[in-house]
Amino acid sequence: MNAVVMKFGGTSVADAEKIRAAARRAIRARRRGRQVVMVVSAMGKTTDELHELAGQVTDSPPKREMDQLLATGEQVTISLMAMALQQMGWPAISFTAGQIGLITDDVHTKARIKRIDVQRVRRELDAGRIVIVAGFQGVTEKGAVTTLGRGGSNVTLVAIAASLAAECENYTDVDGIYTADPRIVPNARKLDRISYDEMLELASLGASVLHNRAVEFAKKYDVPIHVRSSLTHRKGTMIVAETEEMERIVVSGAALKKALARITLKNVPDRPGVAASIFHALAAANIVVDDIIQTETTRKLATVAFTVDLPDLPDARKVCRELCGTMKGMTAEFEDGLAKVSVVGVGMRVHTGVAQRMFAAFGKAGINIRNITTSEIKISCIVDRAEGPKALRLVHDAFDLGKTPTRRMTRSRKKGQIR
Ligand code: ADP
Ligand code: ASP
Ligand code: MG
Repeated sequence: MNAVVMKFGGTSVADAEKIRAAARRAIRARRRGRQVVMVVSAMGKTTDELHELAGQVTDSPPKREMDQLLATGEQVTISLMAMALQQMGWPAISFTAGQIGLITDDVHTKARIKRIDVQRVRRELDAGRIVIVAGFQGVTEKGAVTTLGRGGSNVTLVAIAASLAAECENYTDVDGIYTADPRIVPNARKLDRISYDEMLELASLGASVLHNRAVEFAKKYDVPIHVRSSLTHRKGTMIVAETEEMERIVVSGAALKKALARITLKNVPDRPGVAASIFHALAAANIVVDDIIQTETTRKLATVAFTVDLPDLPDARKVCRELCGTMKGMTAEFEDGLAKVSVVGVGMRVHTGVAQRMFAAFGKAGINIRNITTSEIKISCIVDRAEGPKALRLVHDAFDLGKTPTRRMTRSRKKGQIR
């Protein structure tokens, strides 16, 4: 029997009626002869509320205990979902991550999955039960509870779908992937499909609809993800392997990372091994850095700047202050009011003029670009946080993302030519 893994996000299980609606959807698939695993998030804004509660008892919650606390949210939903299904007359069983051997590393609050023992899930499916798994959580080899980072239920979804070779459906509060966040850009357009690489960039650059590690997994194991609404039965967006035809569209989407911080290290000794020791210290503290720029100021000194997600700033600040203590003369500056706007498209590999169009849109609107970074399929500009949403709407319009693309090749880019 072919299996499907369905994930329901927080808004899709926010109250008893929504839990029943999700249960009905699982039953519908079961009636069609499919084996069904449900991965569920915490109800509504529970995870935010748990964060707030921790904040009421301490300024700096120990990460191990934070995970212990946060994981309770998903545990409430799994049991309620199993009860709802049984009330409707369908055999169902719920599992925490620990109960299905979903093992992670021990990096609390952003753990990575190492393996899943799906035998237990398989046995229950073969016995005809609907299996409900708590998203977002894991356990370490030693049995400590971990979480996979905000939005981590998506990672659970794809990991389980890959392990079971099952279909992968993500039910959420939007009816698919849009050319930009439809809550910020009113004329954003729903896409029928998007490549793993483009979605990976969009997710990493702020499109919170999917966790970037979920897309990474999906690409690695080639598990197409169907992102769709939990309110309708319409088809959503398929995230799939790239096809040649996709390169005809230059820019597929735009994203905004709303809460970004920048750290600038000045008077950094300009000699081999220094950059390595700085970024080693940051990596050892599990801080993800991006947009690294090093410039030589004199023959002996350099400036090194990079960005971190705002929630990582307190940890990064601590590491940088320690580094300044060990490297004579080095100073650190911290900016916490930035945002990043990016455009993404596999077509950038073969088309020209993309960067210029983006910069012109900002220039015309008087938006100051604080930094620019590019890769083969994306261009990102850092701007002041207050200007982020407006900047996103501007680039969305500059590339006519709200209109259906004509899919015609225009000026092609020669190999090595600048965008
Ligand atoms: P869930 O709780 O179901 O996981 P999330 O709130 O985490 O839902 O993600 C869905 C939200 O992602 C949408 O409501 C939307 O505001 C946001 N979003 C950001 N970028 C995009 C995009 N490109 N397409 C669709 N939704 C997006
Ligand atoms: N409940 C967690 C969060 O709000 C995980 C998830 O919903 O994916 O981030
Ligand atoms: Mg989410």
